[in-house]
Amino acid sequence: MTTVDEHSADLTRHGEAAYEAATRVFNLFAPVTPAAAVTARSTEEIRAAIAHARAHGLGVRVHTTGHASATARPMEDALLIRTEPDGEVAVDPRRRIARIPAGTRWGAVVEAAAPHGLAAPHGSSPTVGAVGYLLGGGLSMYARHTGLAVNSVRAVELVTADGGQRRVDAYSDPELFWALRGGGGGFGVVTAVEVALFPVTGVITGAAFWPAAQAARLLPRWRAWTERAPREATTSVRVMNLPKLPEVPEILSAGPVLCLDGVVVAPGDEDTARARRQADELLAPLRAVADPLMDTWHEAGPLAVPETHMDPPEPVPVLGDHLLLRELGDDGVAEFLRATVDRPRSALTVAELRQLGGGLSAPVPGAGALGHLDARFAYSGAGVPGFGGTEEEIRAHCAEVRRALSPWDTGRTAPTFVASLDQPQGHLDADAVLAADRVRTRVDPEGLFRGDIAPGCSAAR
Ligand SMILES: Cc1cc2nc3c(=O)[nH]c(=O)nc-3n(C[C@H](O)[C@H](O)[C@H](O)COP(=O)(O)OP(=O)(O)OC[C@H]3O[C@@H](n4cnc5c(N)ncnc54)[C@H](O)[C@@H]3O)c2cc1C
Repeated sequence: MTTVDEHSADLTRHGEAAYEAATRVFNLFAPVTPAAAVTARSTEEIRAAIAHARAHGLGVRVHTTGHASATARPMEDALLIRTEPDGEVAVDPRRRIARIPAGTRWGAVVEAAAPHGLAAPHGSSPTVGAVGYLLGGGLSMYARHTGLAVNSVRAVELVTADGGQRRVDAYSDPELFWALRGGGGGFGVVTAVEVALFPVTGVITGAAFWPAAQAARLLPRWRAWTERAPREATTSVRVMNLPKLPEVPEILSAGPVLCLDGVVVAPGDEDTARARRQADELLAPLRAVADPLMDTWHEAGPLAVPETHMDPPEPVPVLGDHLLLRELGDDGVAEFLRATVDRPRSALTVAELRQLGGGLSAPVPGAGALGHLDARFAYSGAGVPGFGGTEEEIRAHCAEVRRALSPWDTGRTAPTFVASLDQPQGHLDADAVLAADRVRTRVDPEGLFRGDIAPGCSAAR
């Protein structure tokens, strides 16, 4: 029989180097300060940490990269487990399945899949953790082609509150499998996920930038294109106020810019010509409005896609907001521009509209608690306190955009896009909230993991 001490990784407290490592977060604006923290590299270490928390009357919290720390509840009464299980991504090319250990960032999954002609449903940043992203639904760079990323999950390995290790799939425990996929978290410590990959022979991907002064001519054309866009194409537009940094091309930091980026995917060789045509139908009318300041759209393989959106690789302080929007029409686009571009000064570094629809919009048979997004655009706005605006100015600007877009607000949210703990959240309907609670009561009757439940996802809190 194993004891806690035999396997305990270093349980650390504030001020110790290992505590700082275990509590490191991507969003420097939202540090986390649990009572104790541990980086767990094996199932035994996770079990030992859970036992330690129990023995000391602490709750258990889990994270991987801390990309979502701004949405984490306070954890002063908890032990935080950073999951970094040993092991690599293992791809089974025949079944087109990747087994992904919980500490893995998406960049490593993309690199493991690409040699097999396969791609993964990753998001815009290669440094986001696969597990946190998937548990929250996951809006992929290929989202309109693949649907919500969580629908690709085939099995979840986790340690539950009783210290038991389970491999959960649609057959072994359909209710827990349902709840794990978008049900709001708080079910245990995930140690690995199995995810379906999809074939890709090529992509057309990149980003084109124009002066924001052209936005009033460009954005309505892009919006009109989204109404008839093919499922193979997933794009986003951003109004950006970029800082003058060595890694930012000068031409992009000279003033506000509008960026259009995305992916058009060719699943098979025979689809390449069609993908070229589809990309041209998107880009040619926009390039005709004005020459881009910079234009990186090109033909490539899936390895290029994690770089397309140019998310910051290093931790930054970020404060933001998010809404899921219905069809904007020209009026909605005009309001978005009024609130983001047509003003003397912006406190938002980025105001983004991601294109939804396609494979994201329809309920999927066998889906989990969150399987689709009934919305046309995902808005997110974000500012960096100290750059472009103070915290108060960023909050005020976020509130202004929220007010401007309120006629198109669906009231729903995508869990992975929610930007702060205090913003209204609406991932699940009331029935799904109750069903997820029933599963939690079964697998975590004492509520050891309740601090990890996303707001709005439990009737109990
Ligand atoms: C620059 C940037 C780009 C992004 N791009 C996208 C995008 O394109 N699409 C998209 O959908 N999202 C995107 N996100 C959001 C991102 O997907 C979420 O923040 C996601 O929750 C991050 O997961 P993580 O594990 O890296 O973060 P963490 O903060 O470590 O974890 C987030 C939550 O996931 C849960 N969790 C994490 N690991 C485990 C585990 N092992 N066991 C149990 N629960 C766990 C916990 O509840 C934790 O609070 C982006 C975020 C940033 C900062």
